[in-house]
Amino acid sequence: MTDETRPSTFIRDIILEHNRTGRFGGKVITRFPPEPNGHLHIGHAKAIAIDFGMAREFGGRCHLRFDDTNPTKESQEYVDGIMRDIRWLGFDWGPHLYHASDYFEQLYQWAEQLIRAGKAYVDDLSGDEIREYRGTLTEPGRPSPHRNRSVEENLDLFRRMRAGEFEDGAKTLRAKIDMASPNINLRDPVMYRIRKATHQRTGDAWCIYPMYDWAHGQSDSIEGVTHSMCSLEYEDHRPLYDWYLDALGIFHPQQIEFARLNVSHTVLSKRKLLQLVESGRVRGWDDPRMPTLAGLRRRGYTPEALRDFAERVGVTKSPNVVELAYLEHCLREDLNKRAQRRMAVLRPLKLVVENYPEGQVEEFEAVNNPEDASAGTRKVPFSRTLYIEQEDFRDPPPPKYFRLAPGTEVRLRYAYIVKCTGVGKDAAGNVTEVRCTYDPDSRGGDSKGRKVKGTIHWVSAQHAVESEVRLYDTLFTVPKPDDAEDYESVLNPASLEVLTGARVEPALGTAAPGERFQFERTGYFAVDEDSQPGRPVFNRAVGLRDTWAKIEKAAG
Ligand code: ATP
Ligand code: MG
Repeated sequence: MTDETRPSTFIRDIILEHNRTGRFGGKVITRFPPEPNGHLHIGHAKAIAIDFGMAREFGGRCHLRFDDTNPTKESQEYVDGIMRDIRWLGFDWGPHLYHASDYFEQLYQWAEQLIRAGKAYVDDLSGDEIREYRGTLTEPGRPSPHRNRSVEENLDLFRRMRAGEFEDGAKTLRAKIDMASPNINLRDPVMYRIRKATHQRTGDAWCIYPMYDWAHGQSDSIEGVTHSMCSLEYEDHRPLYDWYLDALGIFHPQQIEFARLNVSHTVLSKRKLLQLVESGRVRGWDDPRMPTLAGLRRRGYTPEALRDFAERVGVTKSPNVVELAYLEHCLREDLNKRAQRRMAVLRPLKLVVENYPEGQVEEFEAVNNPEDASAGTRKVPFSRTLYIEQEDFRDPPPPKYFRLAPGTEVRLRYAYIVKCTGVGKDAAGNVTEVRCTYDPDSRGGDSKGRKVKGTIHWVSAQHAVESEVRLYDTLFTVPKPDDAEDYESVLNPASLEVLTGARVEPALGTAAPGERFQFERTGYFAVDEDSQPGRPVFNRAVGLRDTWAKIEKAAG
């Protein structure tokens, strides 16, 4: 059933091999297991694309399972946000929504089974002592003095742990494996800790909570998951994943690890992202500078561009950092095909057309998308007083400047050719307006054989809609902020620039939050949810210049 046009990946190869040998009877059941302790980011998008993508490709299914085993850091707000973001990205778990907490009772029963089999024991060592007894990569660990308690004593203590008789941290349940194992994860890992905290789903029913490793494989097994994909940091945990399943003798899924996605100039750790939010360095999890799906959506990213990116970065075993420019490249490719073009002046400068009759208004037909004829055209009003970009006028003009300067001609997009006749200045000598004359014979921009190199965009002053435009730069000044000693010190102080006096063409006055446009010559923009009726707010998603194409070219 595999799509032969797709590049082969080692995960696909493993599944194909399982299907050949019949290990899972040809079934492919996967799961995406987020912990609801933060919102999803672009790295999760890669995991989602793999988990849901493999299931889809092989005609199987993918479950959404919340790994809600740590009540103190988790919340319903995150649960809701995660579901919203996965759906937005274009994936669906159908009826298969699960929670690790659904299995707390079954996990507890299995823990008692391991105790009865002499494979788990209650320990009184503190967290620090457990760490100390565990040994190091070069030295074996030492057994806890409580390691050889009788089954009866262990069962009694474990039941009393559940009943709430002991304080947080007073006892743990540990698997009895091998304190000398070269794999530290197998040195009697903790299965349960006491935490008297209210859980967002189970309330106060439990005061002992399972550790990730104990909860995860067993949850996979309960759900009949065949292929349990996760990131590379769990590779050393696989022997433990396997040990638990074998010790219980239950259905045994295959864990497969792939390299995490890293993107330059950003961080992808929920802990660090939460810190950015809590310190007020960004406006929230959905700040358009954040690499979260909520932030990227608000910035103007499309699900299609993100899926395309996830597919193109591929699935590998070796960690690497993908250039942010590549993500932007994927968005540009998508929006170039789909976003309608508009004229918007970000930093306005008044342009008065002296020989254009006062009070006259003309409408010009403007193409909505040159890449898509079906997008049609719209009317753009023209009048005597216009706005152009401040940077489209220079006095004196630098070399090779083909825009407006005293005495030069420029084409106003869709309208006329104008010639600059002078400027108006305020008392301090600043240019407050540029004056020009238009050539009535150049309607539609026809140059009648003369050379006019530059074309600039404009809006009619009386028709334009005042708006706010937010320009973004990378959140961090260095490509690998994770390597910085203190990542806050490499935050980019200029990551946000707010332009409050932008003027956009009237057709943008009614744009709805979430809509995306190309503003001619300045980039792709999305309408922000902060927009008010008659005063839209725009986020620049990306500029028009494709820095990735340049990087690729330089690399040959
Ligand atoms: P943290 O950021 O605190 O390390 P996490 O990102 O691993 O946590 P989870 O909610 O456990 O958070 O992640 C859910 C799934 O997404 C896991 O299977 C994890 O392997 C995967 N995942 C997380 N980050 C990335 C990433 N950068 N690239 C690819 N997959 C990721
Ligand atoms: Mg994790």
